[in-house]
Amino acid sequence: MTDSPRPVIRLDKVGRRFPGPPPVDALREATFSVEAREHVAIMGPSGSGKSTLLNLIGLLDTPTSGKYELDGADVAQLDEHTRTALRRDAIGFVFQDFYLMAGRSAWENVALAMVYTGVSAKQRMIRAKQALDRVGLDHRHDALPTTMSGGERQRVAIARALANQPQLLLCDEPTGNLDSATTEQVMALIADLNGEGMTVLTITHDPATAAWASRRLMISDGRIPA
Ligand code: ADP
Ligand code: MG
Repeated sequence: MTDSPRPVIRLDKVGRRFPGPPPVDALREATFSVEAREHVAIMGPSGSGKSTLLNLIGLLDTPTSGKYELDGADVAQLDEHTRTALRRDAIGFVFQDFYLMAGRSAWENVALAMVYTGVSAKQRMIRAKQALDRVGLDHRHDALPTTMSGGERQRVAIARALANQPQLLLCDEPTGNLDSATTEQVMALIADLNGEGMTVLTITHDPATAAWASRRLMISDGRIPA
């Protein structure tokens, strides 16, 4: 973490057109910034372009127009090796469907996120268990995801996102599969992480989830009004 005055995320008229046919402009001239230590929610209905936007910000996809700067770097200028390293080390991802490996324990799921980072196997296990402790799963290190509640699974996914100590946490509908009580627990955890200095972007169509953010932006038909 730095206290750099420049934004962590800066989009200038960013667009994403899927070629089709017919072509779909999933994102149109999106212009906004997210400063370090902010928690910004992006809200919009299904099909409005939320996942497209998050995929671009998370370097899982590339804009077809406009300029995207991540921590001051023009992402279009980065080679694939640098993009991959940034995606792994600087960004943590949390998804609606958790994406845990069913046959692996909670700690193995977290440890696997560190496989390509040069950390020893022993250290990966220790750090994975520390990350699980951090999300309140100290008693569930060895549990299989299939034996866990939705809230527990999402906390494993958050622990995995934290494994490489990212500066930015990107959440795509993190509470989309959770009931309201569990939503509150998961968002309280994310708010805690933000309070400790993590920059967070949460994509959601749920007002109760968005209420946890310090700022909310709306997206509609691929547009984010200023
Ligand atoms: P949201 O996450 O808000 O539900 P998406 O970003 O998934 O919305 O989708 C926005 C629009 O882009 C939708 O019209 C969707 O059908 C379209 N879209 C998303 N991904 C693709 C793709 N790979 N190819 C073509 N169209 C896509
Ligand atoms: Mg989506």
